[in-house]
Amino acid sequence: MTKSMPKPEFIFKPVHESHVQASIICSKKLKIHFRVRSGGHDYEGLSYVSQMETPFVLIDLWKLKQINVDIEDNSAWVQAGATTGELYYRIAEKSKVHGFPAGLCSTVGIGGHITGGGYGTLMRKYGLSTDNVLDARIVDANGQLLNRTAMGEDLFWAIRGGGGGSFGVILAWKIKLVPVPETLTLFTITKTLEQDAGFKILSKWQQVVDKLVEDLGIRVLFRNTGNKTVTTTYRGEFLGEKGTLMEVMNQCFPELGLTQEDCIEMSWIETVVNNAGFTTRPPPPLEILLQPSSPYGRPYFKAKSDFVTEPIPVLGLKGMFERMIEEDASFLIWKPYGGMMAKIPESEIPFPHRNGTIFKIHYFTKWSGNGNGADDKHMEWIRELYSYMTPYVSSNPRQAYVNYRDLDIGQNKKNDSEDNFRRAQIWGAKYFKNNFNRLVKIKSKVDPENLFRHEQSIPSLPIRSSSS
Ligand SMILES: Cc1cc2nc3c(=O)[nH]c(=O)nc-3n(C[C@H](O)[C@H](O)[C@H](O)COP(=O)(O)OP(=O)(O)OC[C@H]3O[C@@H](n4cnc5c(N)ncnc54)[C@H](O)[C@@H]3O)c2cc1C
Repeated sequence: MTKSMPKPEFIFKPVHESHVQASIICSKKLKIHFRVRSGGHDYEGLSYVSQMETPFVLIDLWKLKQINVDIEDNSAWVQAGATTGELYYRIAEKSKVHGFPAGLCSTVGIGGHITGGGYGTLMRKYGLSTDNVLDARIVDANGQLLNRTAMGEDLFWAIRGGGGGSFGVILAWKIKLVPVPETLTLFTITKTLEQDAGFKILSKWQQVVDKLVEDLGIRVLFRNTGNKTVTTTYRGEFLGEKGTLMEVMNQCFPELGLTQEDCIEMSWIETVVNNAGFTTRPPPPLEILLQPSSPYGRPYFKAKSDFVTEPIPVLGLKGMFERMIEEDASFLIWKPYGGMMAKIPESEIPFPHRNGTIFKIHYFTKWSGNGNGADDKHMEWIRELYSYMTPYVSSNPRQAYVNYRDLDIGQNKKNDSEDNFRRAQIWGAKYFKNNFNRLVKIKSKVDPENLFRHEQSIPSLPIRSSSS
Protein backbone atom coordinates (compact mmCIF):
# COMPACT_ATOMS: atom_id res chain seq x y z
CA MET A 1 0.00 0.00 0.00
CA THR A 2 1.48 3.39 -0.95
CA LYS A 3 1.45 6.46 1.32
CA SER A 4 -1.26 8.09 -0.78
CA MET A 5 -3.67 5.14 -0.46
CA PRO A 6 -6.75 5.73 1.74
CA LYS A 7 -6.35 4.07 5.15
CA PRO A 8 -9.09 2.46 7.25
CA GLU A 9 -10.41 4.53 10.19
CA PHE A 10 -9.67 1.55 12.38
CA ILE A 11 -8.91 -2.16 12.13
CA PHE A 12 -11.20 -4.53 14.01
CA LYS A 13 -9.77 -7.99 14.80
CA PRO A 14 -12.51 -10.34 16.02
CA VAL A 15 -11.40 -13.17 18.30
CA HIS A 16 -14.82 -14.85 18.33
CA GLU A 17 -17.24 -15.48 15.47
CA SER A 18 -19.97 -13.48 17.27
CA HIS A 19 -17.67 -10.42 17.05
CA VAL A 20 -18.01 -10.58 13.28
CA GLN A 21 -21.80 -10.52 13.61
CA ALA A 22 -21.53 -7.49 15.91
CA SER A 23 -19.21 -5.67 13.51
CA ILE A 24 -21.61 -6.14 10.57
CA ILE A 25 -24.61 -4.98 12.60
CA CYS A 26 -22.71 -1.91 13.88
CA SER A 27 -21.33 -0.97 10.44
CA LYS A 28 -24.84 -1.19 9.03
CA LYS A 29 -26.34 0.94 11.81
CA LEU A 30 -23.56 3.54 11.61
CA LYS A 31 -23.66 3.43 7.79
CA ILE A 32 -19.89 3.07 7.67
CA HIS A 33 -18.36 1.19 4.79
CA PHE A 34 -16.15 -1.81 5.66
CA ARG A 35 -13.72 -4.18 4.02
CA VAL A 36 -13.07 -7.81 5.01
CA ARG A 37 -9.59 -9.33 5.09
CA SER A 38 -8.50 -12.93 5.72
CA GLY A 39 -4.98 -13.45 4.32
CA GLY A 40 -4.63 -10.04 2.64
CA HIS A 41 -3.40 -11.49 -0.68
CA ASP A 42 -5.92 -9.73 -2.93
CA TYR A 43 -4.06 -8.71 -6.12
CA GLU A 44 -5.60 -5.21 -6.05
CA GLY A 45 -5.64 -4.78 -2.26
CA LEU A 46 -9.47 -4.68 -2.20
CA SER A 47 -9.58 -6.34 1.22
CA TYR A 48 -7.85 -3.43 2.95
CA VAL A 49 -8.08 -0.35 0.69
CA SER A 50 -11.22 1.37 -0.50
CA GLN A 51 -10.59 3.78 -3.35
CA MET A 52 -14.29 4.25 -4.08
CA GLU A 53 -15.58 5.16 -0.64
CA THR A 54 -14.13 6.72 2.50
CA PRO A 55 -14.20 6.56 5.46
CA PHE A 56 -14.11 2.81 5.87
CA VAL A 57 -13.15 0.29 8.54
CA LEU A 58 -11.37 -3.02 8.21
CA ILE A 59 -12.61 -6.31 9.64
CA ASP A 60 -9.51 -8.46 9.88
CA LEU A 61 -10.13 -12.19 10.44
CA TRP A 62 -6.48 -13.07 11.01
CA LYS A 63 -7.15 -14.27 14.56
CA LEU A 64 -9.91 -16.68 13.54
CA LYS A 65 -7.66 -19.52 12.44
CA GLN A 66 -8.87 -22.68 14.13
CA ILE A 67 -8.47 -25.90 12.12
CA ASN A 68 -10.17 -29.19 13.09
CA VAL A 69 -9.16 -32.14 10.96
CA ASP A 70 -11.36 -35.26 11.13
CA ILE A 71 -9.51 -38.05 9.36
CA GLU A 72 -12.26 -40.62 10.00
CA ASP A 73 -14.72 -38.36 8.19
CA ASN A 74 -12.21 -37.26 5.46
CA SER A 75 -13.07 -33.66 6.28
CA ALA A 76 -11.93 -30.57 8.15
CA TRP A 77 -13.45 -27.30 9.42
CA VAL A 78 -11.11 -24.37 8.77
CA GLN A 79 -11.68 -20.82 9.93
CA ALA A 80 -11.22 -18.02 7.38
CA GLY A 81 -8.09 -16.49 8.94
CA ALA A 82 -6.05 -19.69 8.64
CA THR A 83 -3.54 -19.85 5.80
CA THR A 84 -3.20 -22.64 3.24
CA GLY A 85 0.18 -23.50 4.85
CA GLU A 86 -1.44 -23.94 8.26
CA LEU A 87 -4.16 -26.11 6.77
CA TYR A 88 -1.70 -28.35 4.90
CA TYR A 89 0.44 -28.70 8.04
CA ARG A 90 -2.52 -29.70 10.25
CA ILE A 91 -3.69 -32.29 7.71
CA ALA A 92 -0.19 -33.83 7.43
CA GLU A 93 0.09 -33.90 11.23
CA LYS A 94 -2.73 -36.45 11.23
CA SER A 95 -2.22 -38.40 8.01
CA LYS A 96 0.37 -39.13 5.32
CA VAL A 97 -2.27 -40.11 2.77
CA HIS A 98 -4.70 -37.19 2.97
CA GLY A 99 -4.32 -33.83 1.28
CA PHE A 100 -6.31 -30.84 0.03
CA PRO A 101 -6.27 -29.16 -3.39
CA ALA A 102 -5.46 -25.48 -2.83
CA GLY A 103 -2.89 -22.84 -3.76
CA LEU A 104 0.87 -23.14 -3.87
CA CYS A 105 1.77 -20.12 -1.73
CA SER A 106 1.57 -21.04 1.97
CA THR A 107 0.52 -17.57 3.21
CA VAL A 108 -2.71 -17.18 1.21
CA GLY A 109 -5.80 -16.83 3.45
CA ILE A 110 -8.41 -19.59 3.37
CA GLY A 111 -11.24 -17.01 3.56
CA GLY A 112 -10.57 -15.20 0.27
CA HIS A 113 -8.83 -18.06 -1.53
CA ILE A 114 -11.60 -20.67 -1.46
CA THR A 115 -14.41 -18.26 -2.26
CA GLY A 116 -12.59 -17.27 -5.49
CA GLY A 117 -11.72 -20.83 -6.59
CA GLY A 118 -8.29 -21.93 -5.34
CA TYR A 119 -6.15 -23.92 -7.73
CA GLY A 120 -2.92 -25.79 -7.04
CA THR A 121 -0.98 -28.82 -8.15
CA LEU A 122 -3.79 -31.28 -7.30
CA MET A 123 -6.24 -29.44 -9.57
CA ARG A 124 -6.12 -31.85 -12.54
CA LYS A 125 -6.94 -34.75 -10.21
CA TYR A 126 -9.42 -33.18 -7.77
CA GLY A 127 -10.47 -29.77 -9.13
CA LEU A 128 -10.32 -26.51 -7.19
CA SER A 129 -10.48 -25.95 -3.44
CA THR A 130 -14.01 -24.71 -3.85
CA ASP A 131 -15.01 -27.89 -5.73
CA ASN A 132 -14.19 -29.67 -2.48
CA VAL A 133 -16.30 -27.63 -0.05
CA LEU A 134 -19.00 -29.44 1.95
CA ASP A 135 -20.39 -26.70 4.17
CA ALA A 136 -19.67 -23.17 5.36
CA ARG A 137 -20.51 -20.76 8.18
CA ILE A 138 -21.12 -17.19 7.09
CA VAL A 139 -22.43 -13.92 8.52
CA ASP A 140 -24.96 -12.36 6.16
CA ALA A 141 -26.03 -8.75 5.55
CA ASN A 142 -28.37 -8.90 8.60
CA GLY A 143 -25.62 -10.08 10.91
CA GLN A 144 -27.07 -13.59 11.05
CA LEU A 145 -24.82 -16.63 11.34
CA LEU A 146 -25.80 -19.24 8.72
CA ASN A 147 -24.61 -22.70 7.79
CA ARG A 148 -25.32 -24.47 4.47
CA THR A 149 -28.84 -25.55 5.47
CA ALA A 150 -29.77 -22.12 6.81
CA MET A 151 -28.31 -20.14 3.89
CA GLY A 152 -29.87 -22.39 1.23
CA GLU A 153 -28.35 -23.84 -1.94
CA ASP A 154 -28.39 -20.59 -3.96
CA LEU A 155 -26.16 -18.68 -1.56
CA PHE A 156 -24.03 -21.78 -0.96
CA TRP A 157 -23.55 -21.95 -4.75
CA ALA A 158 -22.59 -18.25 -4.96
CA ILE A 159 -19.88 -18.30 -2.28
CA ARG A 160 -18.11 -21.24 -3.94
CA GLY A 161 -16.31 -19.33 -6.68
CA GLY A 162 -18.23 -16.02 -6.81
CA GLY A 163 -15.24 -14.16 -5.31
CA GLY A 164 -14.73 -12.52 -1.92
CA GLY A 165 -16.49 -9.55 -0.42
CA SER A 166 -19.86 -9.80 -2.22
CA PHE A 167 -22.25 -12.02 -0.26
CA GLY A 168 -21.28 -12.08 3.41
CA VAL A 169 -18.37 -12.78 5.69
CA ILE A 170 -17.21 -16.38 5.49
CA LEU A 171 -16.24 -17.51 8.97
CA ALA A 172 -15.25 -21.08 8.18
CA TRP A 173 -15.32 -23.72 5.47
CA LYS A 174 -15.96 -27.43 5.88
CA ILE A 175 -13.74 -29.09 3.30
CA LYS A 176 -13.44 -32.58 1.87
CA LEU A 177 -9.96 -34.11 2.23
CA VAL A 178 -8.65 -36.03 -0.77
CA PRO A 179 -6.45 -39.16 -0.94
CA VAL A 180 -2.78 -38.72 -1.85
CA PRO A 181 -0.18 -41.50 -2.25
CA GLU A 182 2.71 -41.87 0.21
CA THR A 183 5.18 -41.11 -2.58
CA LEU A 184 4.91 -38.30 -5.14
CA THR A 185 7.52 -37.24 -7.69
CA LEU A 186 8.63 -33.71 -8.58
CA PHE A 187 10.81 -32.64 -11.47
CA THR A 188 12.22 -29.38 -12.78
CA ILE A 189 13.72 -29.03 -16.25
CA THR A 190 14.91 -25.66 -17.53
CA LYS A 191 15.46 -24.88 -21.21
CA THR A 192 17.16 -21.81 -22.63
CA LEU A 193 15.81 -20.15 -25.77
CA GLU A 194 18.59 -21.84 -27.76
CA GLN A 195 17.71 -25.28 -26.34
CA ASP A 196 14.16 -24.94 -27.59
CA ALA A 197 14.84 -23.08 -30.81
CA GLY A 198 11.75 -23.36 -32.96
CA PHE A 199 9.62 -23.93 -29.82
CA LYS A 200 9.25 -27.65 -30.52
CA ILE A 201 9.07 -28.61 -26.82
CA LEU A 202 6.73 -25.77 -25.89
CA SER A 203 4.45 -26.54 -28.84
CA LYS A 204 4.30 -30.22 -27.86
CA TRP A 205 3.48 -29.23 -24.26
CA GLN A 206 0.50 -27.25 -25.55
CA GLN A 207 -0.71 -30.25 -27.56
CA VAL A 208 -0.56 -32.82 -24.76
CA VAL A 209 -0.77 -31.08 -21.40
CA ASP A 210 -4.55 -31.12 -20.88
CA LYS A 211 -4.77 -34.76 -22.06
CA LEU A 212 -2.12 -36.26 -19.76
CA VAL A 213 -3.18 -38.67 -17.00
CA GLU A 214 -4.86 -36.78 -14.13
CA ASP A 215 -2.07 -37.83 -11.75
CA LEU A 216 0.37 -35.61 -13.64
CA GLY A 217 0.50 -31.81 -13.92
CA ILE A 218 3.30 -29.92 -15.69
CA ARG A 219 3.47 -26.15 -15.25
CA VAL A 220 5.68 -23.93 -17.38
CA LEU A 221 7.45 -20.95 -15.83
CA PHE A 222 8.92 -18.27 -18.12
CA ARG A 223 11.52 -15.97 -16.55
CA ASN A 224 13.55 -13.07 -17.82
CA THR A 225 16.97 -14.03 -16.46
CA GLY A 226 18.44 -10.56 -16.89
CA ASN A 227 20.78 -11.45 -19.79
CA LYS A 228 18.43 -10.40 -22.56
CA THR A 229 16.99 -13.89 -22.63
CA VAL A 230 14.13 -15.89 -21.16
CA THR A 231 14.28 -19.38 -19.71
CA THR A 232 11.44 -21.88 -19.81
CA THR A 233 11.13 -24.16 -16.79
CA TYR A 234 8.91 -27.25 -16.79
CA ARG A 235 7.79 -28.11 -13.23
CA GLY A 236 6.08 -31.47 -12.98
CA GLU A 237 4.27 -33.11 -10.11
CA PHE A 238 3.17 -36.73 -10.31
CA LEU A 239 0.98 -38.60 -7.81
CA GLY A 240 3.13 -41.70 -7.80
CA GLU A 241 6.67 -43.06 -8.02
CA LYS A 242 9.29 -41.99 -10.54
CA GLY A 243 9.36 -45.32 -12.42
CA THR A 244 5.71 -44.92 -13.42
CA LEU A 245 6.23 -41.24 -14.21
CA MET A 246 9.08 -42.12 -16.59
CA GLU A 247 6.81 -44.54 -18.45
CA VAL A 248 4.11 -41.86 -18.82
CA MET A 249 6.58 -39.20 -19.98
CA ASN A 250 8.37 -41.48 -22.45
CA GLN A 251 5.04 -42.29 -24.02
CA CYS A 252 3.39 -38.85 -24.04
CA PHE A 253 6.08 -36.19 -23.92
CA PRO A 254 9.52 -37.66 -24.79
CA GLU A 255 10.56 -34.31 -26.34
CA LEU A 256 11.16 -32.91 -22.84
CA GLY A 257 13.94 -35.46 -22.25
CA LEU A 258 13.04 -36.29 -18.64
CA THR A 259 15.55 -38.62 -16.92
CA GLN A 260 15.42 -40.50 -13.59
CA GLU A 261 18.04 -38.00 -12.27
CA ASP A 262 15.62 -35.08 -12.80
CA CYS A 263 13.05 -36.74 -10.51
CA ILE A 264 12.82 -36.40 -6.73
CA GLU A 265 10.44 -38.60 -4.74
CA MET A 266 8.86 -37.16 -1.60
CA SER A 267 5.70 -37.11 0.52
CA TRP A 268 2.74 -34.85 -0.30
CA ILE A 269 3.56 -32.41 2.49
CA GLU A 270 7.16 -32.18 1.27
CA THR A 271 5.89 -31.27 -2.21
CA VAL A 272 3.78 -28.56 -0.54
CA VAL A 273 6.89 -27.04 1.09
CA ASN A 274 8.80 -27.21 -2.20
CA ASN A 275 5.94 -25.72 -4.24
CA ALA A 276 5.62 -22.86 -1.72
CA GLY A 277 9.12 -21.77 -2.74
CA PHE A 278 11.11 -23.36 0.11
CA THR A 279 13.29 -25.36 -2.26
CA THR A 280 16.54 -25.71 -0.31
CA ARG A 281 18.25 -29.12 0.01
CA PRO A 282 17.91 -30.51 2.60
CA PRO A 283 14.39 -29.12 2.83
CA PRO A 284 13.46 -26.88 5.79
CA PRO A 285 11.34 -28.27 8.66
CA LEU A 286 7.62 -28.55 7.90
CA GLU A 287 6.95 -25.83 10.51
CA ILE A 288 8.03 -23.32 7.86
CA LEU A 289 4.44 -23.67 6.58
CA LEU A 290 3.23 -21.98 9.77
CA GLN A 291 5.24 -18.81 9.33
CA PRO A 292 3.28 -15.78 8.10
CA SER A 293 5.85 -14.61 5.54
CA SER A 294 6.49 -16.22 2.16
CA PRO A 295 9.94 -16.62 0.55
CA TYR A 296 8.87 -14.18 -2.18
CA GLY A 297 8.75 -11.07 0.04
CA ARG A 298 6.23 -8.27 -0.60
CA PRO A 299 7.17 -6.46 -3.79
CA TYR A 300 4.96 -4.07 -5.78
CA PHE A 301 3.50 -6.10 -8.60
CA LYS A 302 0.86 -6.24 -11.30
CA ALA A 303 -0.65 -9.47 -12.58
CA LYS A 304 -3.22 -10.54 -15.16
CA SER A 305 -4.69 -13.78 -16.38
CA ASP A 306 -5.91 -15.43 -19.57
CA PHE A 307 -7.32 -18.79 -20.58
CA VAL A 308 -6.11 -20.56 -23.72
CA THR A 309 -8.33 -22.86 -25.78
CA GLU A 310 -6.15 -23.37 -28.90
CA PRO A 311 -2.37 -23.93 -28.92
CA ILE A 312 -0.50 -20.65 -29.49
CA PRO A 313 1.34 -20.81 -32.85
CA VAL A 314 5.10 -20.26 -33.14
CA LEU A 315 4.63 -16.71 -34.46
CA GLY A 316 2.61 -15.81 -31.35
CA LEU A 317 5.20 -17.38 -29.06
CA LYS A 318 8.01 -15.42 -30.73
CA GLY A 319 6.30 -12.10 -30.02
CA MET A 320 5.59 -13.14 -26.43
CA PHE A 321 9.25 -13.96 -25.79
CA GLU A 322 10.37 -10.71 -27.47
CA ARG A 323 8.17 -8.75 -25.09
CA MET A 324 9.35 -10.70 -22.04
CA ILE A 325 12.96 -9.84 -22.86
CA GLU A 326 12.06 -6.12 -22.70
CA GLU A 327 10.93 -6.24 -19.02
CA ASP A 328 13.49 -7.04 -16.30
CA ALA A 329 11.18 -8.86 -13.89
CA SER A 330 8.80 -10.39 -16.37
CA PHE A 331 7.42 -13.70 -15.22
CA LEU A 332 4.72 -15.88 -16.76
CA ILE A 333 3.27 -19.17 -15.59
CA TRP A 334 1.22 -21.49 -17.77
CA LYS A 335 -0.97 -23.84 -15.73
CA PRO A 336 -2.44 -26.98 -17.27
CA TYR A 337 -6.16 -27.74 -17.24
CA GLY A 338 -8.01 -30.87 -18.37
CA GLY A 339 -8.56 -33.86 -16.09
CA MET A 340 -11.13 -33.19 -13.35
CA MET A 341 -11.38 -29.54 -14.44
CA ALA A 342 -12.87 -30.63 -17.76
CA LYS A 343 -15.40 -32.97 -16.12
CA ILE A 344 -17.14 -30.43 -13.87
CA PRO A 345 -19.94 -28.57 -15.71
CA GLU A 346 -19.49 -24.79 -16.20
CA SER A 347 -22.53 -23.94 -14.13
CA GLU A 348 -21.85 -26.33 -11.23
CA ILE A 349 -20.40 -23.39 -9.29
CA PRO A 350 -19.68 -19.78 -10.40
CA PHE A 351 -16.11 -20.63 -11.57
CA PRO A 352 -16.73 -21.33 -15.29
CA HIS A 353 -13.32 -22.07 -16.85
CA ARG A 354 -13.73 -25.81 -17.47
CA ASN A 355 -13.94 -28.09 -20.51
CA GLY A 356 -12.09 -26.72 -23.53
CA THR A 357 -9.45 -24.85 -21.55
CA ILE A 358 -5.95 -26.12 -22.33
CA PHE A 359 -4.14 -23.88 -19.88
CA LYS A 360 -4.28 -20.62 -17.97
CA ILE A 361 -1.73 -17.84 -18.35
CA HIS A 362 -0.61 -15.88 -15.30
CA TYR A 363 1.22 -12.68 -16.33
CA PHE A 364 3.31 -11.05 -13.64
CA THR A 365 5.84 -8.26 -13.17
CA LYS A 366 7.27 -6.78 -10.00
CA TRP A 367 9.39 -3.84 -8.97
CA SER A 368 10.66 -2.03 -5.91
CA GLY A 369 10.05 1.67 -5.22
CA ASN A 370 7.45 3.85 -3.62
CA GLY A 371 4.57 2.59 -5.70
CA ASN A 372 3.92 6.01 -7.25
CA GLY A 373 4.78 7.16 -10.78
CA ALA A 374 7.68 4.74 -11.09
CA ASP A 375 5.09 1.99 -11.54
CA ASP A 376 3.96 3.35 -14.91
CA LYS A 377 6.64 1.66 -17.00
CA HIS A 378 5.82 -1.78 -15.60
CA MET A 379 2.07 -1.27 -15.83
CA GLU A 380 2.42 -0.21 -19.46
CA TRP A 381 4.55 -3.25 -20.20
CA ILE A 382 2.07 -5.76 -18.82
CA ARG A 383 -0.88 -4.01 -20.49
CA GLU A 384 0.90 -4.05 -23.85
CA LEU A 385 1.73 -7.76 -23.51
CA TYR A 386 -1.90 -8.47 -22.57
CA SER A 387 -3.08 -6.56 -25.63
CA TYR A 388 -0.57 -8.42 -27.84
CA MET A 389 -1.90 -11.79 -26.63
CA THR A 390 -5.51 -11.00 -27.66
CA PRO A 391 -5.63 -13.18 -30.80
CA TYR A 392 -4.15 -16.18 -28.97
CA VAL A 393 -6.46 -16.48 -25.97
CA SER A 394 -10.14 -17.06 -25.19
CA SER A 395 -12.58 -14.55 -26.67
CA ASN A 396 -16.27 -13.58 -26.40
CA PRO A 397 -15.70 -13.20 -23.53
CA ARG A 398 -11.94 -13.05 -22.96
CA GLN A 399 -11.89 -14.95 -19.68
CA ALA A 400 -10.06 -14.05 -16.46
CA TYR A 401 -9.59 -15.67 -13.04
CA VAL A 402 -11.43 -13.81 -10.25
CA ASN A 403 -8.77 -14.71 -7.67
CA TYR A 404 -6.33 -12.71 -9.82
CA ARG A 405 -8.33 -9.51 -9.46
CA ASP A 406 -7.57 -7.06 -12.24
CA LEU A 407 -9.13 -3.63 -12.08
CA ASP A 408 -7.99 -2.92 -15.65
CA ILE A 409 -10.92 -5.00 -16.88
CA GLY A 410 -13.43 -2.69 -15.19
CA GLN A 411 -14.51 -1.60 -11.75
CA ASN A 412 -17.43 -0.18 -9.80
CA LYS A 413 -16.96 3.54 -9.29
CA LYS A 414 -19.62 4.39 -6.77
CA ASN A 415 -22.31 2.61 -4.88
CA ASP A 416 -24.85 0.68 -6.92
CA SER A 417 -25.85 2.81 -9.89
CA GLU A 418 -27.15 1.55 -13.23
CA ASP A 419 -23.88 2.69 -14.76
CA ASN A 420 -22.03 0.51 -12.30
CA PHE A 421 -24.20 -2.40 -13.29
CA ARG A 422 -23.33 -1.98 -16.98
CA ARG A 423 -19.63 -1.89 -16.13
CA ALA A 424 -19.96 -4.98 -13.95
CA GLN A 425 -21.47 -6.92 -16.83
CA ILE A 426 -18.15 -6.56 -18.69
CA TRP A 427 -15.83 -7.86 -15.96
CA GLY A 428 -18.55 -10.22 -14.70
CA ALA A 429 -18.66 -12.07 -18.03
CA LYS A 430 -14.87 -12.46 -17.98
CA TYR A 431 -14.74 -13.91 -14.49
CA PHE A 432 -17.98 -15.90 -14.49
CA LYS A 433 -19.31 -16.18 -18.09
CA ASN A 434 -23.07 -16.98 -17.96
CA ASN A 435 -22.92 -17.62 -14.21
CA PHE A 436 -22.72 -13.85 -13.66
CA ASN A 437 -26.49 -13.46 -14.13
CA ARG A 438 -27.25 -16.02 -11.42
CA LEU A 439 -24.74 -14.33 -9.10
CA VAL A 440 -26.54 -10.99 -9.59
CA LYS A 441 -29.93 -12.57 -8.84
CA ILE A 442 -28.63 -14.15 -5.64
CA LYS A 443 -26.89 -10.93 -4.60
CA SER A 444 -30.11 -8.94 -5.18
CA LYS A 445 -31.95 -11.38 -2.92
CA VAL A 446 -29.49 -11.73 -0.05
CA ASP A 447 -27.94 -8.24 -0.01
CA PRO A 448 -30.30 -5.85 -1.86
CA GLU A 449 -28.78 -2.82 -0.11
CA ASN A 450 -25.33 -3.80 -1.35
CA LEU A 451 -23.74 -3.77 2.09
CA PHE A 452 -20.92 -6.03 0.89
CA ARG A 453 -19.31 -3.96 -1.84
CA HIS A 454 -15.97 -3.09 -3.35
CA GLU A 455 -14.52 -2.09 -6.71
CA GLN A 456 -15.43 -5.46 -8.27
CA SER A 457 -18.15 -6.84 -6.02
CA ILE A 458 -21.20 -8.49 -7.59
CA PRO A 459 -23.83 -5.74 -8.00
CA SER A 460 -27.47 -6.01 -6.94
CA LEU A 461 -29.97 -5.43 -9.73
CA PRO A 462 -30.38 -1.65 -10.11
CA ILE A 463 -33.53 -0.32 -8.44
CA ARG A 464 -35.33 1.82 -11.00
CA SER A 465 -37.09 4.97 -9.81
CA SER A 466 -40.88 4.97 -10.40
CA SER A 467 -40.58 7.82 -12.95
CA SER A 468 -38.20 5.86 -15.21
C1 LIG B 1 1.71 -14.58 -3.36
C2 LIG B 1 0.38 -15.06 -3.86
C3 LIG B 1 0.26 -16.38 -4.26
C4 LIG B 1 -0.98 -16.86 -4.72
N1 LIG B 1 -1.08 -18.17 -5.12
C5 LIG B 1 -2.27 -18.65 -5.55
C6 LIG B 1 -2.43 -20.00 -5.95
O1 LIG B 1 -1.48 -20.79 -5.94
N2 LIG B 1 -3.66 -20.41 -6.36
C7 LIG B 1 -4.73 -19.57 -6.41
O2 LIG B 1 -5.83 -20.00 -6.77
N3 LIG B 1 -4.61 -18.28 -6.04
C8 LIG B 1 -3.42 -17.80 -5.62
N4 LIG B 1 -3.31 -16.49 -5.25
C9 LIG B 1 -4.49 -15.62 -5.33
C10 LIG B 1 -5.34 -15.78 -4.06
O3 LIG B 1 -6.05 -16.99 -4.11
C11 LIG B 1 -6.34 -14.62 -3.96
O4 LIG B 1 -5.66 -13.40 -3.93
C12 LIG B 1 -7.25 -14.78 -2.74
O5 LIG B 1 -8.37 -13.96 -2.91
C13 LIG B 1 -6.51 -14.44 -1.48
O6 LIG B 1 -7.27 -14.70 -0.35
P1 LIG B 1 -6.88 -13.95 1.00
O7 LIG B 1 -7.85 -14.31 2.04
O8 LIG B 1 -5.43 -14.14 1.27
O9 LIG B 1 -7.00 -12.44 0.53
P2 LIG B 1 -7.78 -11.16 1.07
O10 LIG B 1 -7.01 -10.03 0.46
O11 LIG B 1 -7.93 -11.16 2.53
O12 LIG B 1 -9.21 -11.29 0.40
C14 LIG B 1 -9.42 -11.38 -0.99
C15 LIG B 1 -10.86 -10.97 -1.32
O13 LIG B 1 -11.77 -11.80 -0.60
C16 LIG B 1 -12.52 -11.03 0.36
N5 LIG B 1 -12.52 -11.79 1.60
C17 LIG B 1 -11.45 -12.09 2.38
N6 LIG B 1 -11.84 -12.84 3.41
C18 LIG B 1 -13.17 -13.02 3.29
C19 LIG B 1 -14.12 -13.72 4.06
N7 LIG B 1 -13.77 -14.36 5.16
N8 LIG B 1 -15.42 -13.70 3.67
C20 LIG B 1 -15.78 -13.03 2.54
N9 LIG B 1 -14.91 -12.36 1.76
C21 LIG B 1 -13.61 -12.35 2.13
C22 LIG B 1 -11.78 -9.71 0.48
O14 LIG B 1 -12.64 -8.67 0.90
C23 LIG B 1 -11.21 -9.53 -0.90
O15 LIG B 1 -12.21 -9.05 -1.77
C24 LIG B 1 -2.09 -15.99 -4.78
C25 LIG B 1 -1.95 -14.66 -4.36
C26 LIG B 1 -0.72 -14.19 -3.93
C27 LIG B 1 -0.59 -12.74 -3.52
